[in-house]
Amino acid sequence: MSKIRLLPDHVSNQIAAGEVVERPASVAKELVENAIDARATRIVIDVESGGRRLLKVSDDGEGMVRDDALLAFERHATSKIRTAEDLNSIATLGFRGEALASIASVARVELISKTEDAAAATRVVIEGGRMRDVKDAGHPRGTTLSVRDLFFNVPARRKFLRSEATETFHLTNLVTHYALAHPEIAFTLTNSGREVLRVASAKDLRERAYQIFGPEFLDNLLEVSGGHKHVAVVSGYVSAPRDRRTSRDAQYLFVNGRFVRDQLIGRALSEGYRSVLPHGVYPAALLFIQTPLEEVDVNVHPAKTEVRFRRVAAVADAVREAVRSALASAGYMLPEVTGSSTALADQREADDLVAVLAAAASDYSPLGTPSSAANSAAAVGEQRAPIEPARQSRIEFASPPIQEDEFLAEGRRGPDRVALKSDTARDLDAINRRPLSAERNSVESASQFVETASKAESLILESASAADGNTKAISLPPLASADKFAREVTVEELSSNIRPLGQLDESFIIATDDEGLLLIDQHVAHERILFDKYRALESSRLAESQNLLIPETFDLTPAQAAAFDYVAPELESYGFELMRLSGRTVAIKATPADLPANEARNMLAEILETVDAEKKGSAREAIRDDIAASLACHAAIKVNMPLALEKMRWLIDRLLQTSSPTTCPHGRPVILRLATRDILKGFHRT
Ligand code: ADP
Ligand code: MG
Repeated sequence: MSKIRLLPDHVSNQIAAGEVVERPASVAKELVENAIDARATRIVIDVESGGRRLLKVSDDGEGMVRDDALLAFERHATSKIRTAEDLNSIATLGFRGEALASIASVARVELISKTEDAAAATRVVIEGGRMRDVKDAGHPRGTTLSVRDLFFNVPARRKFLRSEATETFHLTNLVTHYALAHPEIAFTLTNSGREVLRVASAKDLRERAYQIFGPEFLDNLLEVSGGHKHVAVVSGYVSAPRDRRTSRDAQYLFVNGRFVRDQLIGRALSEGYRSVLPHGVYPAALLFIQTPLEEVDVNVHPAKTEVRFRRVAAVADAVREAVRSALASAGYMLPEVTGSSTALADQREADDLVAVLAAAASDYSPLGTPSSAANSAAAVGEQRAPIEPARQSRIEFASPPIQEDEFLAEGRRGPDRVALKSDTARDLDAINRRPLSAERNSVESASQFVETASKAESLILESASAADGNTKAISLPPLASADKFAREVTVEELSSNIRPLGQLDESFIIATDDEGLLLIDQHVAHERILFDKYRALESSRLAESQNLLIPETFDLTPAQAAAFDYVAPELESYGFELMRLSGRTVAIKATPADLPANEARNMLAEILETVDAEKKGSAREAIRDDIAASLACHAAIKVNMPLALEKMRWLIDRLLQTSSPTTCPHGRPVILRLATRDILKGFHRT
């Protein structure tokens, strides 16, 4: 007997729904795309309970006649393509003709739609893929689609829906995306009657960005305009390097008006910032890539959030170059390192040189970035032992010669000084910055760094001599470096007998102990001290505040606003006093005692972005750690701050009293050691 059956439609639709409909935001995506394809000028999205109970999208687009309203729910029913050839140049957002069928198979759906000419609107009700009712109804030109009780007939999927806050976050993010992609369309989003986003039709992207993110965000934007029309025209905005994000959440990327999550573009964007932004820090971006329709395949993923470019490398180049020239025209980069494709090879070389130098300067740690540090620490079998209380009590501390307040006050003056020394600003930045190229994201061994560093040295010498008109390149033999001997220090190797000698680059304290030389990163050391302090004060409910003379106001993005209500109580337990004003404006009335007022906003923005939807579900404890770490980072003295010996001593003493003197709250090493015995080895004295 044969065993293969054709599945009934409602079953195959549910299977398709598995891919298309993941959560309320994915339903909203399909409905909003349909409204845009129908040339709506106004789109209103109302949700209840984060879209789990109700998700309603109304538009004033071209609407559907009765036959179409019924056909729309059939699988593979679409008005947007006719032949397979049409798949090669898709100009609409939709084309698969399966969204409505999928959605209707897993929810209770009501469609009301009217075209300009029709006498009456048509109302169609479908539940779990079964047609329940069709009749005339009243509705102005356009379409309203209500989706109730998502996954009511698929309990397994319903279980995977997250909290209302999480789903609202995703919805808000989605609507923000489409609002940015279509400034000409007015958007409104309400959640359980509360207005989350409302923007009137805007004349251009800049005005739309202003409506959504507020004036401050706009101040930090650089205009991007580049690429070639045969490959990819790149336009939009990216943030100035001072606007730093810890996630890619503020990167809105569009390909031919379609919101995509594209790693290729994300990476190319980061490459554009190579040498101006450190590793793990991301710019904000509103980037529009316009390619000839046949250059891109959008039929890659059922949810259409991925695309495939025919000429991948060319698109990546176009994005990177456009971003670099935006940075260059704003003075963040030398103009000659960007430009025409003939200069591309030179430019790459120049970039590599900058990157190598930056790496040499910033990667004083042979173990590199936090994650690679963890990897290589594991690889060489090093273990971070937890601190031993007994051992700690044996350490005696000299009484701190200076007060913390004094120390911090100095720290706060630091950035002003830095700003004055504009000449060295570039060098300073190099200390803090790490190149972002893909190769460099991988773990690199200490010896590779040594090699690249000495290669860089000879490169400089070469180019210097070339500039002198001297054709003979001077190149030093690679210096035998002690780099490979420098190691992270574990807690039990620490003695109390640490004596500061001075600073390297005004950023790292050079010290000795009985074992040899130590390098202490002053910023992360202070970060560790403050982190412990904040955590202790918070848990004993003794957080100190400083009132601001004039409250600072701060505009939240819609997504930040969604996170705000959740995080605000935690922030207040650290000494913030915050007040939600009308709309998405927040007033900062008081800040934690040590936090410089001018850092408060940055810190808030950072926290609201790190505490993303996923973390909202996680323990409050984790959020408190995030807040303490971020506070510590913003309040700590910066690199490139000259310190008197006394202050170095103070810092070291306090560091030794912390819970984990050798690692910073973000997991980076605080102290490196170059042991005397290795120095002896290096000089062939053993
Ligand atoms: P697709 O968008 O891929 O064509 P859908 O299942 O999303 O498939 O929609 C099926 C069809 O229903 C569309 O091709 C379009 O003709 C029609 N349609 C859906 N939503 C709307 C709307 N808001 N306004 C006008 N027509 C719509
Ligand atoms: Mg569609």
